[in-house]
Amino acid sequence: MLSPSKRKKALALLEATYPDAKPALEFSTPYELLVATMLSAQCTDKQVNKCTRVLFSQYNTPQRMVTLTIEQLEPYIHSCGFFNAKGKHILSMSQALLDRFSGEVPSSMEELTSLDGVGRKTANVVLSNAFSIPAIAVDTHVFRVSNRIGLTQAKTVEKTEQQLMENIPKEDWGKAHHWLIYHGRQLCSAQRPHCNDCPLKEVCEYAVSRQD
Ligand code: SF4
Repeated sequence: MLSPSKRKKALALLEATYPDAKPALEFSTPYELLVATMLSAQCTDKQVNKCTRVLFSQYNTPQRMVTLTIEQLEPYIHSCGFFNAKGKHILSMSQALLDRFSGEVPSSMEELTSLDGVGRKTANVVLSNAFSIPAIAVDTHVFRVSNRIGLTQAKTVEKTEQQLMENIPKEDWGKAHHWLIYHGRQLCSAQRPHCNDCPLKEVCEYAVSRQD
């Protein structure tokens, strides 16, 4: 794991490299973000945005969403993959919002993860981006990149999230999530990280270990 001074340097380099990092999913309400994040599992944000632009033009509240049957919802979300499971979760989550939360998306981890199809990662995305509550969602990019750099040293998503919260100032949690996603997409790819072009190559544990 990086020393505190190297960690600070790594975070400063990430911030300087991605000063405008922001959510790639399009949304205008917490409900839209929740649905979009549920659709984004195993699917690109670009594809999700294509689907939700059409879906949300008519069904952007739980009240409207529950008027659809799973068969009626399917054409809107089919291209996001796993449409059957995702569709059932979205309908059941929307009904639960109406039954238990007066139609509003709740703003606590416990309440969010009590909804069908909402795990810790989705809840953290919603808390951070819809409610500005400090949280770090760990997806595949965040997991890989933070462990390569040495911001964390963890074998599970849960431990990675915990160590990131310990090692990054709370006010930077939301931004750090986006820095790590951008970095994973643009330079630190799963199969072949582009270390020679990476501004973090002098501090990154993965890159330094390969120079030995
Ligand atoms: S130096 Fe290589 S492994 Fe480290 S963050 Fe950059 S691209 Fe990823």
